[in-house]
Amino acid sequence: MGTPRLLLVHAHPDDESLWTGGLTARHVDSGGEADLVMCTWAEGTIRHRELTDAVDILGMPRPPIMLGYADDRRPESAPDAPRLCAASFDDQVRALTEHIRELQPDIVVTYDALGIYGHPDHIHAHRLACAAADAAASTTLYHRAGPAWRVRSLYFATIPEWMMDLLAPSLFPEIPREQLPGTPDSEIDVVVDVSDLAARKKAGVVAHRSEIARSRAIAGFMSLPEELQDRLLGVECYQRRDLVPGGCDLI
Ligand SMILES: [Zn+2]
Repeated sequence: MGTPRLLLVHAHPDDESLWTGGLTARHVDSGGEADLVMCTWAEGTIRHRELTDAVDILGMPRPPIMLGYADDRRPESAPDAPRLCAASFDDQVRALTEHIRELQPDIVVTYDALGIYGHPDHIHAHRLACAAADAAASTTLYHRAGPAWRVRSLYFATIPEWMMDLLAPSLFPEIPREQLPGTPDSEIDVVVDVSDLAARKKAGVVAHRSEIARSRAIAGFMSLPEELQDRLLGVECYQRRDLVPGGCDLI
């Protein structure tokens, strides 16, 4: 088979750059196809515009597909829509199944089961991506949503323990370390060196201007020493789950 096709499923604009921007940029630079489904924030909002800029910086060939749900903590993200976590899960699985069947990705990338650090929207996006990848392969479920398509592997972005050890003293000094997340190396399947793409990834994060102005964690990250930022942005860690024997490797 040729170059694998990627589909990224994220909850919030900025996660695509922060957690998976290196993998995405490397994939498209190598001639691979990649698309992004964004679960929250409606088209026309400021965060949507910022996301479109970030996706351009990463080199994605098409604009993001917006599911248009509201962010769990930001009702203004989609004033006329329900919260992602409160809407019908079946409707969401059907909608994402339709995108998967149309785009025919070999690999779906999303968060790990904890949503990396426990954000309810991230956990929900993980569950949605898993359920839709399974559903898309069924020849009988949602049969009006296009012909069945088998995703070959799921990749779950995670934060390794060592990365949280480096971040915790500056970003979360008031939280005891054992209450912060972090995946041990033994539970990480794929480590992607994206150190040569750290600057582009950072430019993708910086495109989310309104979020940097609002979020203490993102602003805190951006004020870390440049050398530390580059080290943290230069590695991405994933858990891999194969849905067909042999699965699918990254480029
Ligand atoms: Zn997020």
